Amino acid sequence: MTDARVRAAYAEGAGIYRIVPAAVAIPENLDDVVALVREARRSRLALIPRGAGSGMPGGNVGNGVIVDLSTGFSDLVVDPHSRTARAGASVTWAEVNDAAKPYGLRLPPDPSSGGFATSGGMVATNAAGPRTVRYGSVRPWVEALEIVQADGEVHTIRRGMGNGERFALTADGRRLIADHFPRTRKNSSGYALDRFALSGDEIDLLVGSEGTLAIVTEVHWRLDPIPPEVAGAALGFPDLESMAEAVPYLVSLKPSALELLDESLLQFIPDAPKVACLLLVEFERETAAAARGVVGDAVRGLKHVVTHVETAVNRTGLERLWDVRRQASPALARLPPTQRSLQLIEDGCVPLDELAAYIAGLRAAADRRGIPVAIFGHAGDGHVHVNALPDTTRDGWREALRGLFDDVTELVQRLGGVPSGEHGVGRLRAGVLERFYGPEVMQLFRDVKRAYDPLSIFNPGVIIPATDWSPVAALKVGAGAAAIPEDIATRLREVERSAAWATPKLELAH
Ligand SMILES: Cc1cc2nc3c(=O)[nH]c(=O)nc-3n(C[C@H](O)[C@H](O)[C@H](O)COP(=O)(O)OP(=O)(O)OC[C@H]3O[C@@H](n4cnc5c(N)ncnc54)[C@H](O)[C@@H]3O)c2cc1C
Repeated sequence: MTDARVRAAYAEGAGIYRIVPAAVAIPENLDDVVALVREARRSRLALIPRGAGSGMPGGNVGNGVIVDLSTGFSDLVVDPHSRTARAGASVTWAEVNDAAKPYGLRLPPDPSSGGFATSGGMVATNAAGPRTVRYGSVRPWVEALEIVQADGEVHTIRRGMGNGERFALTADGRRLIADHFPRTRKNSSGYALDRFALSGDEIDLLVGSEGTLAIVTEVHWRLDPIPPEVAGAALGFPDLESMAEAVPYLVSLKPSALELLDESLLQFIPDAPKVACLLLVEFERETAAAARGVVGDAVRGLKHVVTHVETAVNRTGLERLWDVRRQASPALARLPPTQRSLQLIEDGCVPLDELAAYIAGLRAAADRRGIPVAIFGHAGDGHVHVNALPDTTRDGWREALRGLFDDVTELVQRLGGVPSGEHGVGRLRAGVLERFYGPEVMQLFRDVKRAYDPLSIFNPGVIIPATDWSPVAALKVGAGAAAIPEDIATRLREVERSAAWATPKLELAH
């Protein structure tokens, strides 16, 4: 479809960009995808695979052809005996879990966007969530992938099948990876060569490849039994240092979630406790006694540093405690229209012992650049989300935003972190990858890309930066934003404010 209104409806995803694509394709089945890839190869068109469009760093927008995989691939079969689910690329996290629940099973990593994030999108970004602190990102839960390759061939790649002989590492390459990959608990920044070096499995290159190596049409998920009992606590701290002291202790108790709400975010939530930071901790256990017992251990072990304690001994109580976290997004959505919440530095991940230094550095950078920020995230993984809240009527806000991006990139690098823990590199961070990994690992990334997609038809500019890369070009905000029909711009804004990413984007054009 090349109709201007349809193209406009696909010009934005979550995140900061507005780029009007050349066309939109909505494949209905595998044959359609194969035909599209063959045509792209022939005519050298760029294809931008896309699920719900909820990804943050601009991997789901671009000036080529958007391939909307959010509807045509909805088959879902759960096999309780092998504890697996075969899900088409369009199937959301919530749909997988709804189907698995009657068998007492679930897909443990739990992105907050699970209501709309598609299986294809989650695999492509190596998505994660609060429970990742215990169960990892989606990577270890991917058993097999059906993909359409750049030559138009369809393959099913299984864990344990080896490297597929497309790309192999030399001894020198392995040394480079060992020396240059950061030691954070999470990472969605570039091809996972460290995981590939360990497993020798091609699937580890494909997970987290952000639509740059192949189009995913089906995912075989591994499922896990739902633990029977849960308990938890909300713990308030007077300063960053005491919070940072508590985190490794709580991680040692094996929580199933350990989430942080910083005062920069708490101030927007009317009923939130008045503390410098709040940690929400959840423990899943086999018995109620074990779940309650570990909450007791957590509270007793931290009584010298906490200034606020609330506990919950079952799921209902825990839901009530976590309500404060759920109020955060609606609170930010109520900001005045001139103050936009922008995802620019939203996904940095640092080693756990640098968490306090990272948050202090974030606050300082925000002050220096005159841009308020709201900080929250996955404390147990050293992984912090930051919403930048610039006043877009202020002169120089765009330059200040760029300054904030540069300051925070430098900060994350200095602390031994990675620029993305779960959202991916996209277009936003492609240009800084080399600073984190060095030129030789970046060359390995280019070699991976060339091995899978020699004509660069899949998502050019994502992971491997475009020559004219700039993190704050093509913004959806401000006077320079690409012109699209006003009614579609308004509806896209509404989708963003209400996180209605499940909305079929064609509806916005009609
Ligand atoms: C309110 C909100 C909360 C969020 N919370 C979380 C969270 O807790 N954890 C988390 O990890 N993320 C979170 N995200 C980000 C986002 O939801 C995830 O990155 C999600 O995995 C993206 O899925 P999607 O279907 O929207 O993919 P899209 O945004 O459409 O695409 C994302 C990337 O994947 C590629 N891609 C998509 N489908 C395919 C496919 N079939 N084949 C190949 N490549 C493909 C695209 O090219 C793009 O690079 C959140 C986003 C929002 C808006």
